[in-house]
This record gives sequence, C-alpha cells and structure tokens, in this order.
Amino acid sequence: MNILVINCGSSSIKYQLINREKRKVLAKGLLEKIGEINSSQVHRIGGKVVKKQDEVANYEEGLKSILALLLDEKRGVIKDASEISAVGHRVVHGGEDFFHSVLIDDEVIKTIKSYISLAPLHNPPNLAGIKAARSLFPDVPQVAVFDTAFHQTLPEKAFLYALPYQYYEKYKIRRYGFHGTSHRYIAERAAKFLKKPLKELKIITCHLGNGCSITAIDKGKSIDTSMGFTPLEGLVMGTRCGDVDAAAALFLMEKENFTTAQMDNLLNKQSGLLGISGISNDLREVQKWVVKGDQRAKLALEVFVYRIKKYIGAYSAVLGGLDALIFSAGIGENEVNIRDKVCQGLEFLGVYLDEKKNRARSKASRFISTEKSPAKILVIPTNEEEMIAEETWRIVNKTVNGESGIVNSKKQTARYNSPELLK
Ligand code: AMP
Repeated sequence: MNILVINCGSSSIKYQLINREKRKVLAKGLLEKIGEINSSQVHRIGGKVVKKQDEVANYEEGLKSILALLLDEKRGVIKDASEISAVGHRVVHGGEDFFHSVLIDDEVIKTIKSYISLAPLHNPPNLAGIKAARSLFPDVPQVAVFDTAFHQTLPEKAFLYALPYQYYEKYKIRRYGFHGTSHRYIAERAAKFLKKPLKELKIITCHLGNGCSITAIDKGKSIDTSMGFTPLEGLVMGTRCGDVDAAAALFLMEKENFTTAQMDNLLNKQSGLLGISGISNDLREVQKWVVKGDQRAKLALEVFVYRIKKYIGAYSAVLGGLDALIFSAGIGENEVNIRDKVCQGLEFLGVYLDEKKNRARSKASRFISTEKSPAKILVIPTNEEEMIAEETWRIVNKTVNGESGIVNSKKQTARYNSPELLK
C-alpha cells in the first residue's frame, strides 16, 4: 500500500510517498514559495535528486506538479495515480476535539477550521493541502494526523493555566502541546528497543530541534508536555524564548511601545538561542562561537541546557520515576555535548551516561547509557512522516475493514475519539 504523506506549511508542501509493506520511502520532496514566480522544488525520487523551478500558483497546482513527477515515465515511481491508496495529512491543531487521527470528511474539516484562531499560521495551509488532495484524489481516503492529539491525555491539572477559569471556557485557553506525532513515535520506538510494553514504562522524550519540546509519558500516555497554548512555551528554542514571565512581555510592550504583532515577533522569532547569543538560531553556529570564546554564545548554551535539565527533574517527579530518557531531532540526535551536559548531575535519578557510547557517531537508534544505568538513555531519530503513514494505514484499515465500514462524520468523530482506539 502506497501512502502519500503531506505536510503543508505557509507557502510550502513537504511530502513523502511511502510503501508501507516495504517500509520504503519511494519519493520525497519539498516544494517552496507557492504563489511566487519562482517556486522551487527539490525531490528525491528513485534514488535521484530532481530540482525544478516554475510557477506554482496554489496548493492544488503544487500537488499536481508532485503527482506528475511521481508518474513521470522516466523518473517516476508509480504508473498510475490509483497506486496511491491513501493520503495522510499533518494537521497542527486539533484542539480538544481530536485525541486521535481521523478519516477526513466535511465534518472533520469544519472542526479543523474552527481551530484556525488557535493556529492561524498552521491550520489554514493544512486545510488548503486537504482541499487540494481531496480534489486531486477524490476516491482516496484521507486521514488527518494532529500534532496536538497525543497530548489530549494530559490531565486537567497539567493542561489548565491558573487564569480566570472563564477564559478556558470562553476561548479554550489551555496547554495543548505540540510535536505530538514525534513524541509518540519516539516513545513507541523506545519501547521496542527496550523490549518492554509501553504500558510498563515511564519515559521522558526530548524533541530538540529548531523547535524544542519535552514530554512526560506514563504507560504510553502523554501526561505533561512543555509546549503550551502555542509552541512558544517551555524549552529555549532556536528563536523562541520558551518559559518567560508573562509580565515581562507586558512590561516590554509598555516601555518599547510594541504592538501585539511586534511582541509576537520578538518572542517567537528573535528570542531563544538567537536572542541570547545574538549570533544564530542554529546551534551549530552558536557552538562555533563558544569555541572562539564568545561569552554570549556560551551563556545561550548554558540557559538552553539548564532549562532541559530542569524539565527532566520536574517530569521525573511527575512520573514518579524514570525508565528511559530519550533524545531526538536535529540537536538531540547529533549534539554530543548537549546530551552530555544535560545528563551531567542526573545520576540521582538513575541516569548514567556512557561517554564513549554518547560520542560514537551513528544515524541509528541506540543506547547511550551505561550497562548498569537504572534509567536508560537513548537516541532515537524521529520520523514524523513514517508515523503519519502508519497512522493513516491504521485508520484506513480500521475504517474500511472495521465492523461498520466508512461511518458518517458525527459518528466517526465520536468513534475515533473513543478511548478504545487509544489502546
Ligand atoms: P531540526 O529542527 O530537527 O532540523 O534541528 C535543527 C537544529 O539541529 C539546529 O539547531 C541545528 O544546529 C541542530 N543540529 C546540530 N547538529 C546537526 C546535524 N548534524 N544535522 C542537522 N541539524 C543539526
């Protein structure tokens, strides 16, 4: 079964065509600058890199262009569009309505639309991608896989902010958490690696990329996570500040006469590693300056590591113990020094890093804790596309082969939110 995984950004389409049985990526690519004169495309197809530049006016044209390449006589990987059996869409915000992936129908689209105010930059392009794919593949089942869904198991005490309760009721202001697909993927892979059922494990997953978040997972369920109402909260990130006293933002707005948009830009785009170091949001760049003796670069790294460590302590307390600490994404998978600094001093939690294993370069999932470490430390490369494909396969299979076939939307939404499916 070939599954097309689509991730639509503000002017881009990232995609992978995955053969589920062979667990093979047949093609993948990125189409950028949709709506501009020079849309750029980079595809990896049949082991070759194909670059294209032409005008792609909208998401539907973008998808058509991708499909044409997949079908291309010389370079293509499929002979007919019917070889695509399902489409899986990454959708950022599913609010409180979806705690699982769902088969997309009109009702589901309406609900995703209702969360545009909570994810104004993400849900509209996600919806545009869904619309384009439905029009291009009208008979193919389409599945929405939400970034927020995995964290819908957070208990009220973890997701509620101590603001007047009426604003939770009125605007649904609460912690949602993001990167859910990645945290879930990492945790499931870790359980396989540990040869233990997820239901018996207390896990902390650190997704450390340009965006960073950390999640406490108890018996396979997310019970707390660092990103909040938006992806701004929690860890220090490339350009996001993470945790900050809300009063500091108010103070700045008053002193600097910032508009809401300016303040938003400062917190999301000018802070984090970039903000402290004044050098870059890219950790590799910051490290280069640390080596040169730059004090602000050093400080940025210290704050970055300290915040992660603090969350690990807090989440170990919340979990009441720790079986596995997992590092993933660009920084988590590659940055030996960061893993080293984060783990230093965590021995009281049973976390013992094996320095040699930590320094060994590898792209594979691996243990980096000592043999005797009570809590295991692992590096697990994340793969959100694989998880989306797996979820798509699971939902399509259940729906098509399930007891009642493809059910109508209202029932379906209820059905897919049923705790039964979380098992
Ligand atoms: P991501 O958002 O997952 O692509 O991660 C991007 C972050 O990972 C940036 O801060 C990079 O500096 C950092 N990083 C460190 N080492 C590497 C590497 N070898 N490859 C890619 N990203 C890396």
